[in-house]
Amino acid sequence: MEPGQRDKYSRQILFAGIGEAGQEALLRGSAIVAGCGALGTVIANLLVRAGVGRIRIIDRDFVEASNLQRQTLFEEADAREALPKAVAAERRLRAINSGVAIEGIVADLTPKNAAELLSGFSVILDGTDNFETRLLLNDAAISLGIPWIYAAAVGSYGVTMTIRPGQSACLACLLESDAGAANGGNGNGVAGVEATCDTAGVLNAAVGVVASIEAAEAIKLLAGKLEALNNRLISCDVWSGKFQSIGIARNPECRACARREFRYLEGQAQPHITLCGRDSVQIHERHRRLDLAELGRRLASASTSAAEVRNNDFLLRFRVAPYELTVFADGRAIIKGTKDPAIARSLYARYIGA
Ligand SMILES: [Zn+2]
Repeated sequence: MEPGQRDKYSRQILFAGIGEAGQEALLRGSAIVAGCGALGTVIANLLVRAGVGRIRIIDRDFVEASNLQRQTLFEEADAREALPKAVAAERRLRAINSGVAIEGIVADLTPKNAAELLSGFSVILDGTDNFETRLLLNDAAISLGIPWIYAAAVGSYGVTMTIRPGQSACLACLLESDAGAANGGNGNGVAGVEATCDTAGVLNAAVGVVASIEAAEAIKLLAGKLEALNNRLISCDVWSGKFQSIGIARNPECRACARREFRYLEGQAQPHITLCGRDSVQIHERHRRLDLAELGRRLASASTSAAEVRNNDFLLRFRVAPYELTVFADGRAIIKGTKDPAIARSLYARYIGA
């Protein structure tokens, strides 16, 4: 370790659980932050400041004003410019700690790209907002043998569990088995959990607690302090002040960690997903790159009803009242103002291309 690093991380090295050897392991370590919204910004901030050597941030979305209440890496200017979250986060994090290799990737995690985007890293942290992607992360992590940390927050409540392939229960043990459902998992109500995000809102403090527990677990893993891991499902409610931890047993019949049936990893990407937290549908069935500048010129000049065409280097946004379409260079689009995939698809075909 260089003298500068010893000084920078001195308070962490002084902590008996880490020490100099632990800090050196962190500096050599690498982490994926999957999703850079409420949970992801807090996790990424903590891990970058802790000196984790290499961090890859994957996010499909762009910054909006309503994110700023809890997504701690972003500023009003990021929302005004509609910067992709992965880009804005990378920029901010580089300014926080230039000693960390930070890579922001604007992409949607899908069965197609999951193995490529996640492999080669020491730990994966859940910053996603939906169970579809979490179960994909679970399949990918188990199949690649990478530990990952599940977390979710809604309202004043949050939950997290560290998953070590072959060592602990996995997310499918928790969500897909009867025992898991009885233990506080959501057997078949995955969609129900997702729906509550739209209606219940979320407190930034709940996010902060859960994301901090995730970061602490990642630091233990990366520092090689496996004996300190929680090995339990931890839940907390910052409003009622109730904290709980439950042991989750492995399901010997689990399709993911026992039978190695990776349904979500092998499945086809969903043609559309209703995003959590707003009235939006994402279309990502097209896997061809779009020339955003060309599309912008076409929309601005043609006698379409597209209005307020705005773009930056990463995306193009325009309004077709009462909808707002945001198009990314990889062909993805987020259509705001509807939850109906048919309307979203028809707008996509009309304005972006069939
Ligand atoms: Zn399992």
